[in-house]
Amino acid sequence: MSHGARVIALANQKGGVGKTTTAVNLSASLAELGRRVLVLDLDPQGNATTGLGVSPRELEHSVYDVLMKDEPIENVIEATIVANLFLCPATIDLAGAEIELVSAFSRELRLRRSLDGVRDDFDYVIIDCPPSLGLLTINALSAANAVMVPIQCEYYALEGLSQLFRNVGLIQASLNPELTIDYVVMTMYDARTNLAEQVVREVREYCGDKVCSTIIPRTVRLSEAPSFGKPITVFDSGSRGAIAYRHLAKEVVGG
Ligand code: ADP
Ligand code: MG
Repeated sequence: MSHGARVIALANQKGGVGKTTTAVNLSASLAELGRRVLVLDLDPQGNATTGLGVSPRELEHSVYDVLMKDEPIENVIEATIVANLFLCPATIDLAGAEIELVSAFSRELRLRRSLDGVRDDFDYVIIDCPPSLGLLTINALSAANAVMVPIQCEYYALEGLSQLFRNVGLIQASLNPELTIDYVVMTMYDARTNLAEQVVREVREYCGDKVCSTIIPRTVRLSEAPSFGKPITVFDSGSRGAIAYRHLAKEVVGG
């Protein structure tokens, strides 16, 4: 009965807005709901990889080999400490791919084709994009059904968004007609500041009903969890961050 995984790309060319934190913790929460989830780390920094307790130094293969060496993705996938949650890891090799892809055959669609091998094995594939709009992100957007854009509740939150939306529009027109921005997620919300509330209002005005009703709070536990190699749902299961990401997962599955 499977129609194949729903592929969601976490994209925003700004760094530090919560892409990786959302990729890891949304995925863990979806897995907790019994969905089979693959986190695909597409950032050479490998923060989603280490955040899920996998050490890049101990890996023989990574997403780099999938993109550049035609390694079947199923050979690269690692289990994690969370049931139902799997990882296609990144290592620093991936930094070279941004350049190597320029001259590669069908350079925008390599990830999409690789995912065909595992589409029926998962309910969700969550792609953690690097902080740029280069060929790695283009590969993610070409492979995705939907884009999730995390936005930090900070000054200049809307800066760069029109460029991101324009790029998604270009990919939709040329490479992936299915692609839509389905989710805008406000992150690092600090209820003690008027600014955060003001930013949420502005983003709602600009992005309308794409803005998720779940707002991710700023909490130190969310920033501590990655250094223990655990998603927040395992690291501190009852914390505000864990509860927020579980809410977000419910929004994504449509409950
Ligand atoms: P990106 O992947 O967009 O660069 P990250 O998810 O790595 O962003 O987040 C940037 C930094 O902010 C990281 O140190 C992360 O631990 C921290 N962080 C992310 N979300 C939160 C949050 N809700 N509360 C506190 N710290 C957060
Ligand atoms: Mg990141």
